[in-house]
Amino acid sequence: MLNLAALLEDGARAVPDRDCLVFGDLRIDYATANMIANQVAELLTARGVKRGDRVALASPNTPYFPFVYFGALKAGAVVVPLNVLLTSREIAFHLEDSGAKALFAFTGTPDLPLGERAFAAFNETDSCETYIDLPGSPGATESEIDGAETLWAALAGTTGAFSTVQTEADDTAVLIYTSGTTGSPKGAELSHMNLLFNAVASDSLFERADRDVYLTVLPLFHIFGQTTMLNCGLYRHATLVLQARFDADEALSLMEKEHVTVFAGVPTMYWGLLGAKGDHDMAAITSNLGTAVSGGSALPGEVQRNMKDRFGVEVLEGYGLSETSPVVSFNNPKVKAKTGSIGRPVWGVEMKLVDSEFNAVEGEGPGEIAVRGHCVMKGYHNRPDANAQVFSDGWFRTGDIARRDEEGFYFIVDRSKDMIIRGGYNVYPRELEEVLMTHPEVSLAAVVGVEHESHGEEIKAYIIREEGASLTQEQLLEWCKERMAAYKYPRLVEFRDSLPMTATGKILKRELR
Ligand code: AMP
Repeated sequence: MLNLAALLEDGARAVPDRDCLVFGDLRIDYATANMIANQVAELLTARGVKRGDRVALASPNTPYFPFVYFGALKAGAVVVPLNVLLTSREIAFHLEDSGAKALFAFTGTPDLPLGERAFAAFNETDSCETYIDLPGSPGATESEIDGAETLWAALAGTTGAFSTVQTEADDTAVLIYTSGTTGSPKGAELSHMNLLFNAVASDSLFERADRDVYLTVLPLFHIFGQTTMLNCGLYRHATLVLQARFDADEALSLMEKEHVTVFAGVPTMYWGLLGAKGDHDMAAITSNLGTAVSGGSALPGEVQRNMKDRFGVEVLEGYGLSETSPVVSFNNPKVKAKTGSIGRPVWGVEMKLVDSEFNAVEGEGPGEIAVRGHCVMKGYHNRPDANAQVFSDGWFRTGDIARRDEEGFYFIVDRSKDMIIRGGYNVYPRELEEVLMTHPEVSLAAVVGVEHESHGEEIKAYIIREEGASLTQEQLLEWCKERMAAYKYPRLVEFRDSLPMTATGKILKRELR
């Protein structure tokens, strides 16, 4: 039997009184966090959730995320983490595609009314039988959402004693949605073994302090935050200081106050830390901060150098994908690190470069990165077509193009897929193009990422209008805002009479960029 929830159970046995989660003024020790996860497992079991059933979770980084995540795992279920910015229509798609039986959603705030959107999606989805509201005020038994039940009301009568349901290493633990190398969102099935081993592999790369404190601001619904912060942090019996939304000055205040030892972020977060204007005790921050990790997109050398100057810490770059749990390679400081490189494969993982026919590319390359090892997903949920495209001979094709030096360090040169990474969020052009093309006055749409100083990339839509159409840029932007989550609607629109194309009619996005 192997269950990822062992990470929390082990902490509850070894360090029951240690702070596990810190969120604002709330401090929750390991024993309490484990007990609440047990209560969630009892609740789910009482509502008919069984081994292998899917449980969706839409929450920013609050203590609810680990309570429900580990509670669902203890019940033998598969967690389906949802991006908190999804629209109601998008949440409904994820519920239907995963066949989720239950949905837990954070009520949200007036500017991010997550609960309202999630409840509307729940009411549209037949397979989903249970909706649990995670209220803004801890302990609240009355929901602000008409007709919804809060977690605390639902937990009344549970005991906190629960024996984790028997699961095997290869059971799916998390179904994480990504558009991967092709088109529409797909659920990558990550097993208990995938996730546990990747957390342990991450641990082996980070320096250890006597007592680690992780600033957990990378979203836990994304695999980068989930493995390197939540699972790796619990494996280390660390204290996780949760930040619901990245704010550089707040992050620095938390580092100072909570004596943070480990920080992981996407490059734009480092860019934010360097630009923070507040008054902070840098000596206090730098004396504790021992590990800083970057991933998700390319880390500019300038940011790395400035972090070293200002924070006295070498930001170590790693590489991975949702489909690989996520860590594939890393600049291991105990061995060697190289600026501009994504490092070398972590233990238990192999990398190679391949050409478009999947033949190994020897020497420097470039070639597409292919990966094999404990980190690689079982496959996409119910998508044999997509699986056939990405798996070959037990190797997973990443869609990323890289070079390799004589010491085996990899350097990403391009993404063969056209995914845009805007401020750390993945945006998939094809999904946006499909929506744009449903506008009656849009004839053709091509979405690309263009360079942006603070977001890394900005989303730009090139549009060919229907003949005689009078659509303006403002009208189209308004229309997009209503239909797409805030992180993904195009901010720039340019009308064109034609778009550059290949002989076979594929739009040449590289030229547009
Ligand atoms: P996701 O599935 O959200 O984790 O996105 C995975 C993609 O992020 C990869 O396929 C890469 O294109 C990109 N990525 C991750 N880490 C890096 C990195 N260190 N440098 C450049 N691109 C990266």
